[in-house]
Amino acid sequence: MEDLRIHCFPDKVLKQKAGKITRIDNTVKELSEKMLEIMKGASGIGLASNQVGKLFRLAVIGNLPDILDEPLILINPEINDSEGWTTQDEGCLSFPGVSAAVRRRVKIYATFWNLKEEEMKIEAQGFLARAIQHELDHLDGILYPDHLSFLSRQLLLRKYGKKKAPSF
Ligand code: ZN
Repeated sequence: MEDLRIHCFPDKVLKQKAGKITRIDNTVKELSEKMLEIMKGASGIGLASNQVGKLFRLAVIGNLPDILDEPLILINPEINDSEGWTTQDEGCLSFPGVSAAVRRRVKIYATFWNLKEEEMKIEAQGFLARAIQHELDHLDGILYPDHLSFLSRQLLLRKYGKKKAPSF
């Protein structure tokens, strides 16, 4: 597989909707391994395929030793139900250097396929629920600043712009 890298905002691929995976083949397996590697290398806890320039409904979550024994590989994930609301600080590997408080559901009930072609169900809350919601958003071309108020979004993007292009 070609070399993949993390695509950062405002790369257009981040705003695109990823397509459903119809066959869990070697391409999907290799891509998920590569994504886990990139995520770990960047000390992230989640990565969606859009972020490496691919448009498959595939996301990985890991680097959470207290919550997950093994990384989660989410193929065609869907959130079927959710409960409550919570606001917490959130960041993204595609927006290095900035973070903002984002409102998300506290608890989610999701389904996805794993690499063994089994349909899985997951009930998640707290940090893991937040991570899953964040990654699923990516697959629909939604980025966390999209959840902020107009003003907060402008402030965040301005701060990000300054970090990205340091003045000289
Ligand atoms: Zn992200």
